[in-house]
Amino acid sequence: MLRLRPGDPVRLFNPASGEWLGILLRLDRRSAEVRLAEQLRAPIREPGPQLAIAPIRANRLDWLVEKAVELGVARIALVTTRRCVVRLERSERLRAIAIEAAEQCGRLSLPEFAIFGDLARFLAALPADGTLVVADEAGGEPIASVPPIPPDAALLVGPEGGFAPEERALLAARSGTRRVSLGPRILRSETAALFLLVAYALAQRPR
Ligand code: SAM
Repeated sequence: MLRLRPGDPVRLFNPASGEWLGILLRLDRRSAEVRLAEQLRAPIREPGPQLAIAPIRANRLDWLVEKAVELGVARIALVTTRRCVVRLERSERLRAIAIEAAEQCGRLSLPEFAIFGDLARFLAALPADGTLVVADEAGGEPIASVPPIPPDAALLVGPEGGFAPEERALLAARSGTRRVSLGPRILRSETAALFLLVAYALAQRPR
């Protein structure tokens, strides 16, 4: 592992202050002191969608978090659904993956993480009537013909076992929900999530 020493240059970033070159003054296991030397990038707004996904196996979720950060996700909600096969305990590891991905791809912001114990609680936390795009392997509008997706939309992907009938009923009862089909094949949850993120990115361009 690369060990930094006092006097080494470091790069620091956050959305409010942009990116800075600093010089490390002191480092221990819990904290560091850095003298800011020069601003490398001004702050910018990095709007993006909320991606909601049922927990999937750790290696696949790690991979998805890295790719979702690269594709600009602003918030990742982990929503336990009836047919989840995986229990999620903590999001610290995912946060560490997000930090590494942000450094690698040059983002200034990190996605927030939120954990919901069931679908009803996730839906209740959404803005009333806010757009929720749900990937549904059972059918919906073909993704290519979906009208522009608003920048503050949430994107929802089901678990490996699919949505349960009562969850489908909750989704159908909520205004602002749009069910979309991602084609004729059954995709893994993480593939469907990336597909939605790319569709969202394309929809942000004027058509
Ligand atoms: N339980 C389902 C089955 O066995 O038929 C498959 C669920 S799929 C592995 C996981 C999730 O990915 C689904 O809940 C859905 O959100 C999304 N998904 C997969 N394929 C899709 C497709 N062709 N169109 C839309 N969403 C899809």
